Amino acid sequence: MRFYLASLACAWAIGLALPAQAQRAHSRDPFHDVASLNARLAALHAAHPSTTRIVKIATTGRGDVLALEVDPDGQFAADAPALFIQGGIHGNEWISTEVVLRLAELVSDGRPRWRGLTYRLVPVINVDGFATGSRKALDPAGAPFDANRDFPVPGQGDHVSQPLIAALRDYVRTGKVVAVLDYHSAAECMLWPFAYDKAAAPPDVDAIAAITAQMASAVGFCSGQVAKVISYKHQGTASDWYQDALGVPAILVELGSVEDPGSQAVEQILIDQERPFGLFLDWLEARGTKAAVAVPASGCRDVTITVGEAPLGYQASGQACDGQRHGAWAFRYIDGGLMREGAYERGKEHGTWRTYHPGGQPHDVGGFVAGTPDGDWKRYAATGTVIEERRYAAGSREGALSRWTDDGALWQVRACAGGMCKTQCKTTGKTTCEAILAKAARPDRHAKRPASRATRAKPTRAKPAVVRKPPAAKRKKPTATPAS
Ligand SMILES: [Zn+2]
Repeated sequence: MRFYLASLACAWAIGLALPAQAQRAHSRDPFHDVASLNARLAALHAAHPSTTRIVKIATTGRGDVLALEVDPDGQFAADAPALFIQGGIHGNEWISTEVVLRLAELVSDGRPRWRGLTYRLVPVINVDGFATGSRKALDPAGAPFDANRDFPVPGQGDHVSQPLIAALRDYVRTGKVVAVLDYHSAAECMLWPFAYDKAAAPPDVDAIAAITAQMASAVGFCSGQVAKVISYKHQGTASDWYQDALGVPAILVELGSVEDPGSQAVEQILIDQERPFGLFLDWLEARGTKAAVAVPASGCRDVTITVGEAPLGYQASGQACDGQRHGAWAFRYIDGGLMREGAYERGKEHGTWRTYHPGGQPHDVGGFVAGTPDGDWKRYAATGTVIEERRYAAGSREGALSRWTDDGALWQVRACAGGMCKTQCKTTGKTTCEAILAKAARPDRHAKRPASRATRAKPTRAKPAVVRKPPAAKRKKPTATPAS
């Protein structure tokens, strides 16, 4: 089960050091660059001056590495339990930066649900790589290095990190970090330590594995131990060091792709990641790491909340009953139309949810059962063309997962079981996914001749018919408006 994920996980991007603008041209602009990201953090601080503060961790050639610290009680006590959240240690995995920025927007908004814990959020560690669309960071001499391989390996003594990572280590060691979330892309998995050794496990591995699996189910991702799910060598990762040196649960989140054909919209990824984040906070509260927050009985009332800013932010309206979303809710783009609609059952998405393109066309349609995706889901281009089909069983991807380009060409087919997906074909260069499937369906010329007389007697004319038979995924795709 391991080999195929390596091609999708973050290390895969080594050979894809495209300029940032080239990467982002595939997605909806504008997204952040270093200047606008740091300006956004400054704006959050300006909007919440008593409950947030900005800390400069390091300065790189392309700008400052900033943390937004949030204490909903405004105390900033040195020993206050803190959840440390990082993104962008691989600079080209920019969706991780957007997700951490979204979490910063959420936890700084003053709502009672964030109380009982403090937060330290660094949307982008590798500022140089983020600025240039490169996985690697730059050392003081300008030479590239993988910042997520520059931490001490557990049990192997100290390691002299580059100044950027040394500064990060110093920063995380101050105060009282009690848990870590480390965001990457694009393997669509939630992973628990360790990465450096399959046989090594955190002390409370069962509890960490359980919450990781629960978080994964909320977004239909796979879950498991990093070393077992991602097969390439990864010695010296940040999460391993946080888990080992700080002795706290450090979960690595591999978000989905945002640039491949059929990919999810960025604004929807940001909303989806609220679910596992909420589960993680509930888990910390149940463990006593986060102080419990009493929610007074308030009955049901109409609520409207605004999160983030245009174009990725939203304004959501519906009913909240005793602090939990309940009944029909609608999310709108801050600058206009309907983004997303469906219903909650006591705080959890339940039933069919629909998302929409900014122009109002259906985008993603599928069902939830008690907060986990379930059943058949379809994703559509703005033209109405189907660009993805997938199926879940209680939050676990099952069966074929197929993606098409916006103009209807089959781009990728994956076979999923138990949440793990294996790529059957993918269009690269001139080799199309359909050609790969056709070749796989063709009888092997080098196979041994059939042994039995009966088999040998079969007419060989049947073989070309097999070749011409279109593979299952090559069928004509529906282009009409989605059914419910
Ligand atoms: Zn990564």
